[in-house]
Amino acid sequence: MEHEDFQAKIDRLNEIVAASRKIVFFGGAGVSTESGIPDFRSVDGLYHQQYDYPPETILSHTFYMHNREEFYRFYRAKMLCTTAKPNAAHKKLAELEAAGKLTAVVTQNIDGLHQAAGSKVVLELHGSVLRNYCEGCNTFYDIDYILKTEGVPKCEKCGKPIKPDVVLYEEGLDQKTISDAVRYISEADTLIIGGTSLAVYPAAGLIDYFRGQNLVVVNMAPTSRDQYADLVIPGKIGEVFDQIKV
Ligand code: NAD
Repeated sequence: MEHEDFQAKIDRLNEIVAASRKIVFFGGAGVSTESGIPDFRSVDGLYHQQYDYPPETILSHTFYMHNREEFYRFYRAKMLCTTAKPNAAHKKLAELEAAGKLTAVVTQNIDGLHQAAGSKVVLELHGSVLRNYCEGCNTFYDIDYILKTEGVPKCEKCGKPIKPDVVLYEEGLDQKTISDAVRYISEADTLIIGGTSLAVYPAAGLIDYFRGQNLVVVNMAPTSRDQYADLVIPGKIGEVFDQIKV
């Protein structure tokens, strides 16, 4: 994109943000790539790396139930990234919320970086690697416990396996999280979609509840919603959001 085209889009984004009172952000793995966490579908994403099984197989409920050892090998190596820090996109979203312009972040991410940046209303559609629960007695375990154990982590109280509070393929989403997301999205005046391929359902279907004035897409690759958007910025979300004036 020519620099002038890009600047014109940033200016338009700033006009929209200035005129909005109830922005909702809907995002995915692309929001955290600039923090060093790989997404799934970019060229250097996890789907293009070689494993014994495809990631969507390893990250499925069936695989987890039958191959917890292998699941945890992949999960510890590829899904846990404790050194990652919020980038400019996470930080700007927290600023917009603090300024009373943004009502919620609806995220497919499981990395906790929005909360680390200071966002308060974060609807985690797919859960979080920061929370883990015993399958037997439901005792809570933090990420450090998962990192310091080997193989399948076991509950210190009852000895049963510990499962991450992450929605695996074939598993349902939390109903309260979905209904909250629907409410925020349907009441928004502006919906900004960013860093997501919109390929994972039912999460991606939630954006259909948007009824507001401005639909904005900030994503490196084209998405199925670009044709309906008022503004499409094909760039890096951290670089784009860094230029939003709060
Ligand atoms: P995806 O990998 O399917 O798509 C990522 C999209 O983001 C792509 O379209 C890519 O072009 C775009 N992108 C990548 N870097 C970007 C950047 N810097 N700026 C703008 N756009 C960028 O991710 P998805 O749509 O979120 O779906 C994958 C699933 O994987 C989700 O359900 C999510 O739970 C999970 N996931 C989460 C994390 C995380 O928590 N950080 C990481 C990997 C996967």
